Amino acid sequence: MMIDRDFRMLIGGRLVPGAARLAVENPATGDIFAEAPDASPADLDAAIDAARGAFAGWRDTPIEARRKAIVALAGRLIEEVEPMKRLLTREQGKPHKDAAEEVLGAASWLKAAASLDIPVTVNEDSAERYSETRHVPIGVVAAIAPWNYPLILASFKLGPALLAGNCVILKPSPFTPLTALKLGELAADIFPAGVLNVISGGDALGPWLTGHAGIDKVSFTGSTATGKKVMAAASDTLKRVTLELGGNDPAIVMHDVDAGAIAERIFWAAFGNAGQICIASKRIYVHEQVYDALRDALVAYARTVKVGDGADQGTQIGPVNNGLQYERVLDLIRDARAQGYAILTGDDEERTPGHFIPVTIIDNPPEDSRIVQEEQFGPVLPLLKFGDYEEVLARANACEYGLGASVWGADEEAAWALAERIESGNVWVNETRHLSPFAAFAGHKQSGFGVENGEAGLLEYLVPKTLTRKRRL
Ligand code: NAD
Repeated sequence: MMIDRDFRMLIGGRLVPGAARLAVENPATGDIFAEAPDASPADLDAAIDAARGAFAGWRDTPIEARRKAIVALAGRLIEEVEPMKRLLTREQGKPHKDAAEEVLGAASWLKAAASLDIPVTVNEDSAERYSETRHVPIGVVAAIAPWNYPLILASFKLGPALLAGNCVILKPSPFTPLTALKLGELAADIFPAGVLNVISGGDALGPWLTGHAGIDKVSFTGSTATGKKVMAAASDTLKRVTLELGGNDPAIVMHDVDAGAIAERIFWAAFGNAGQICIASKRIYVHEQVYDALRDALVAYARTVKVGDGADQGTQIGPVNNGLQYERVLDLIRDARAQGYAILTGDDEERTPGHFIPVTIIDNPPEDSRIVQEEQFGPVLPLLKFGDYEEVLARANACEYGLGASVWGADEEAAWALAERIESGNVWVNETRHLSPFAAFAGHKQSGFGVENGEAGLLEYLVPKTLTRKRRL
């Protein structure tokens, strides 16, 4: 198999080119370097028919065989890490090192999910009656992934959905379809035909999928605005939904930190993957006692960081993935400039063929500014000054999102006490973004609905079934 060409969909165990094609751009150069299939409604129907046809067989396949198949897919990914890494960088933009970590991360996530057990609860075991609650698969799952982590976020869904005994239709973003299509190709002879299908297409494909009566569950990762549309579309046939959505994560830096020592970690909390991470730190609240020191250390470090083509050696931050997001981020920077906020690093007028935006740090803009209130999802960061912990907690929590947050402080107990009061599904102390395939990951408020990862994430792909038996007729 050639990882870098010949991109086809996996439908009913066959690799199909689709009638129409979708251009895929390298965000570092602006070049169209590949074409992916642009699925038609007939392609979608074929995938859903295949999945429905395969469901009973896969559901009744012993769980040990299902585990083995998922682990085999992880193994294939590991074998192909080098070409998959290069492909991921070309379609997504991230540096090769980060791309390799994503490929291997997806493999380890699959393996971890495959090791989970499906719980059975005995409700009653008496002379009179026996009752247990099992968890059974839902049917056909639509797994919809965004463009920032196309492989690892797909793996969050595939492992538990398939282990649970569901069949899956994976739909990647039109901006990053290629690695997902190759994942499908790697899986083609591992799973029975129809168990895993991968389809790519343009903007119409997502709504077709979520509105299709043949889908029983939608597992979606993407923006909050799209998540609301997915939920509305799911209501018609009462599809189950899991939504992992946007965030505007606060980081609170306490008065007792050593600013010089943490600056680099804070920098990467915000600018990793060019800021295109749902759980990137997107608002940094810094205590006034350490504000100047941290600001200066961040700016000094930012000047050492190499922004460039992810395929070039030494690149630490790649381009923004696509033109739409590039314009969105530039718009926020231009607004900050128009409002007269102090911009410490970065220059939005720097133009190259790719979607490059220099690391941009904004000095203490007002709390109600767009750059503080909106999810930037790009390499621009507001630093905000505070003096009172109750006040900063209120500012951190005054947000429609509740995905992640972090607190940084030498007094761990004091930091933990603040962390306990932040309204978010994930709060870290003295680090950020640590995720485990065994720990629940869930967004509060408008950051999500439902859970991924761990047993709670697995249960999202199952429905409870309680069986009760009277001991005597
Ligand atoms: P997006 O919502 O534009 O697209 C996500 C996916 O949904 C893509 O595959 C897209 O083609 C598809 N889609 C678009 N419209 C649809 C519709 N009406 N119905 C069904 N599917 C549709 O998001 P994006 O721009 O790709 O990703 C960035 C956003 O994702 C950010 O807000 C980020 O915070 C969020 N995100 C969240 C998590 C998380 O785990 N909570 C992880 C990564 C990204």
